[in-house]
Amino acid sequence: MRYLILSDIHANLEALEKCLQLAQGKYQKVLCLGDLVGYGPDPNAVIEMMQRTATVIIRGNHDKACCGIMNVEDFNPWARQAIFWTCDTLTPNHLSFLRNLAPGPLTMPGFEIVHGSAEDEDQYIFEPAEAIPALRNQSMQLVFFGHTHHQGGFSLNRAGVFQKISGGSRRNGRVLTLDLEDGTRYLINPGSVGQPRDGNWRAAFAIFDEAERRVDFYRTEYDIATTQKKMTQAHLPEPLIQRLEFGR
Ligand code: ZN
Repeated sequence: MRYLILSDIHANLEALEKCLQLAQGKYQKVLCLGDLVGYGPDPNAVIEMMQRTATVIIRGNHDKACCGIMNVEDFNPWARQAIFWTCDTLTPNHLSFLRNLAPGPLTMPGFEIVHGSAEDEDQYIFEPAEAIPALRNQSMQLVFFGHTHHQGGFSLNRAGVFQKISGGSRRNGRVLTLDLEDGTRYLINPGSVGQPRDGNWRAAFAIFDEAERRVDFYRTEYDIATTQKKMTQAHLPEPLIQRLEFGR
């Protein structure tokens, strides 16, 4: 089985469409690690697209906030403004779809998916101090996580050697291939489709080939100007519009 792993789409339809195009023919199932909405201008269209394509979707913090099951006070003022806009823009059906999304962690055959971490769906895993305990505690060899919007991840081998995995130097297409080693544990982030924050503005995703024990990381350019124009028309906060082109 080959899985297309998407995370943090954040209502960015142009980025999502480009990822699906580049991934076409390379996967059988689509998994989503949460944050379908929030920040971007197309929450309804993104939900519809994911309802059509995804097999499994778990919820992210923005999904929870937009449908009223998480306090918006936990978000910075720009994110909060976008959450209010999203909440007003979503159809009643889509609001109830978000409300019914499963929380992580969710167990798949031979691996696990979470939004933040297995311990806490809203936890950020940025640093070794967060990654090492998570790797030690995970029951599966492989856990996919999102939430940080950084493509890559972490590994811990049998001898206790810890490694950070970062995207490759190629800017478009397949940027990095990771062959999973027996006895090594992995925390893998496919990166963010709709709002990358790892210094590269290109939409990110990963494909996991279960039989080959391989994860391929991808980046793709997309029509960022169209997304930004839609955000301006929706009166979404200017810093959210600008950050897309910096990948921060
Ligand atoms: Zn997110």
